[in-house]
Order: sequence, then C-alpha cells, then structure tokens
Amino acid sequence: MSMSVEHQPSATVEPVRESLVPPRRWALWEQRPRVIAYCLTSELVALLATIAWWRAHPPRAIDVAVLGALAGLGLLQAELGRRVERVRRRVAGAAHINMTSVWTVAGVLLLPPALVGVLTALLYAHLAVRSWYRLQRVPAFRTVNNACVIVLTCYAAGLALTALGTPGIHSAVTAGWAGAGAVAVALTVYFVVNAALVLPARQTIGRTLVDLAGGWTDNALEFATLCLGVLNALALATLPGLALLVLPPLLILHRAVLVRQLEAAVNRDSKTGVFSLAGWHDLAERVLARAERTCSSFGLLMIDLDHFKKINDTAGHLAGDQVLTATANTITNAVRDHNDAVGRFGGEEFVVLLPDVSAADIDAVAERIRHAVNTLVVEVDLPTPDGNGPTTLINELSVSIGTAMYPTAGTGIRRLLDAADRALYSAKNTGRNRVVHSTTAP
Ligand code: GH3
Ligand code: MG
Ligand code: MG
Repeated sequence: MSMSVEHQPSATVEPVRESLVPPRRWALWEQRPRVIAYCLTSELVALLATIAWWRAHPPRAIDVAVLGALAGLGLLQAELGRRVERVRRRVAGAAHINMTSVWTVAGVLLLPPALVGVLTALLYAHLAVRSWYRLQRVPAFRTVNNACVIVLTCYAAGLALTALGTPGIHSAVTAGWAGAGAVAVALTVYFVVNAALVLPARQTIGRTLVDLAGGWTDNALEFATLCLGVLNALALATLPGLALLVLPPLLILHRAVLVRQLEAAVNRDSKTGVFSLAGWHDLAERVLARAERTCSSFGLLMIDLDHFKKINDTAGHLAGDQVLTATANTITNAVRDHNDAVGRFGGEEFVVLLPDVSAADIDAVAERIRHAVNTLVVEVDLPTPDGNGPTTLINELSVSIGTAMYPTAGTGIRRLLDAADRALYSAKNTGRNRVVHSTTAP
C-alpha cells in the first residue's frame, strides 16, 4: 500500500515496455558497491531461505486458502487506501510508511514460512504494478529489496516463535500467557530486525539518522500496524469473517498519519525546508508566553537578501530558488540546533527566533549569519530551453539584518517583528550587508 498511486490518465502501454529495462541497464548497477552487495545478499538469502522453508514445510491446501485470504485482504486495503496514500506521498515525499506488515505479521502467525515469502511477494508485486505510472518512479531494485527485507524480517520473527515453542497462533492460543508472551517477543523481533535490516540501505543513500529511525509517528504507526496484524491473525484463526474488521481501523490509521503529515507540512516552507510563517508564528507565541511567565528575554532577527532581484534577473528564477534554499541552510547552520527557529517570512526574507539570547549575544549571532551568507558560494544551473544548462557559481551574496529584543523592543510578536523590520530597513538604507539593532533604528 505504501507506494500505490493513481494511474496517470494519459498513460499507455508504452511506458510499461520502456520501464522493462534490460538487466545490464538496471538502476541497481549505478548504486555504490555497498548498496549493490547489500541488495544482492538480502535477495539471495531471502530466496534460499524460502526454498529451504518450502522443502522443510511444504504448504497444505488449508495454508494456501489462508494465504489467499491474507493476500485478498491486503490487496483490498491497498486499493481502498490509494487515494490517502497518494496525498500522503505528495505532502511527505518518500517517507517510508509501510502498512503491509498487518498482513505479513498475520502471515508469520498463520502460515508456514515459505508462504509468508509468497504473500510478501504478492503484496509487493501488486504495489509495484500499481505504482508503475508514478511520476517519480521508485526504481524496481528498491521495491524488490524492500520485499526481501520484509521476507527476512518475517523469517526472523517466525524463528523466534518456533524457538519459544509456539510456532503459530494456534499453538499460542492454547499456551495461554506463555503464548501471549511468545507473540509479544515475535513482534519485538519483527520490529527490531526490520529496523536493523533497512539501516544499511538507507545510510548508503545518504539519509540522516533522524530520517532513518523515522519520526515518532512513523514508529507508532508501524507498532500499531503490527498490533493489528496479531488481531488479524487471531480473527482468522478463530472467526475468519471477523478479519474484515481489521480494515476500517487500518484505513483510519492511515488517514491519521496523513493528518499528522499535513499538519507538519503546514508548518514547513516547502521550498527551503525552514518553518513556514504559520509554523514559526506558533513557536514564537509559545516562546513569548514562556518569556512572560519566567520574566526572561528572547530575540528576533529579520533577514533580507540584498539585491536578490538581480539574481533572478540574471540567472533565472530557478537559480534564485537554489540561492534561497542555500541561504536558508546557511542561516540554519549558523544558529543553535534545537532552541533557535528559522522561518521564511516571505519572498527572500527570513526570520529567526532566538530564545534565551541576551542583548549582547544577539548581535554576535546576527553577525555570524551575515558573515556566513557573505562567504556562501552557491552552484546553480543556468536556464536553457532543454533544461540541461551549464552550472555557474553565485557568490558575493549578502544579507541585511534587523534585530529586536523582547521586552525592550516590544512586548508582542507583531511589535517585535515591526521593530526588527524597521531596523532591517535602516540596514538597507545605510549600505546593506550589515546588522542593525532595533534600539538604534529611527
Ligand atoms: P533589496 O536589497 O532592497 O532587498 O533588493 P531585492 O532585489 O532583494 O528586493 P526586492 O524586494 O526588490 O526583490 C525581491 C525579489 O525576490 C522579487 C521577487 O521576484 C523575488 N522572489 C520572491 N520570492 C521568490 C521565490 O520564491 N523565488 C525566487 N526565485 N524569487 C523570489
Ligand atoms: Mg532583498
Ligand atoms: Mg525583500
């Protein structure tokens, strides 16, 4: 489900054929050797383990029926959740939300291991076919690798169950509390092994550790999905018709994640990645309330790129956007990670909230930002009709900065912004590329 999207209306059979690239041109070979080795190893181990499990526990007819039920429910859920997933992916990029584990966990508890492998393959094949026409296609090797990681995760959880003497939900049900404990251990193994197995691949494609571990929401979702997987298995093992009851909470869970991510998106400026004005304002009001309560002070910076219009006029708007993003990153890197908040006020103007900063320090922070932007060099693509223009370096960037301290320059956020804006105006009027404190503003 995580990658399913709507078909593009204009899509024909042609892109499908184009997507079937010959093995020597697979995107996999363009990856770093470590990624290639990681993918091939996990695929080989998953394949060999599946063959070995199949031989050791050949599936019976009843197992195939259960597989059919799980796969059917999984496909139904993926289809019902496509619209939500499409919106979620658009607002949240490629964040890895994977709700297929509600079916694979149930598979671990209900099926002989090899059939869990088959179930995973079916669910991911559906996902790949459904995401065929996506605008930003996921390279096939990634989907294959994700599926293999899930297969290996399932095998690890299955091994834990077997080691605890309860190889499936039926034996767990008859084992009472020991059975419940074994299922809890298997869930933990599933969670941990899955997180560990995706780690090498993600690190090598350059994600940060926070992205890797996923936010609290991602992990809570994964955990809730695993819990539903167990309830699903219990239903299928006792009153199979009730397994359908898993679908509504699952779809609502998916929607709840979308709501959280939409909230987060509202607080972020999509172009530069810093706070949007709304998100920044919320934070500023909270810092103000705390300063009022504790009789402490805080500072604000209003930052405006100098002669930015010239960059747009000479290098184009896309280059201008790249400069904006680079400036936002530079400002972010020049302030403290957790306390300070950088927001985009609009256009080429940024605001920075500096909680607990003293009047003496605020000038130093502003000066650090001014200097960092002044020494910034941005590599941008020049515009050409075919979009593959040469790159050029943009330097000699500068910013003018106005500062304001609470409570001396004002006792509300709007007043402080006004004061910082007046100081900024004064910086512009006195030659740009400088910092002016609001108390020195006219
Ligand atoms: P000053 O030194 O007085 O600030 O001059 P300036 O050229 O930076 O200021 P001005 O306000 O005249 O121009 C700001 C420009 O920023 C105009 C607008 O087209 C451009 N701009 C606003 N938002 C964006 C954006 O998101 N991307 C790009 N590329 N340009 C933007
Ligand atoms: Mg400007
Ligand atoms: Mg401006």
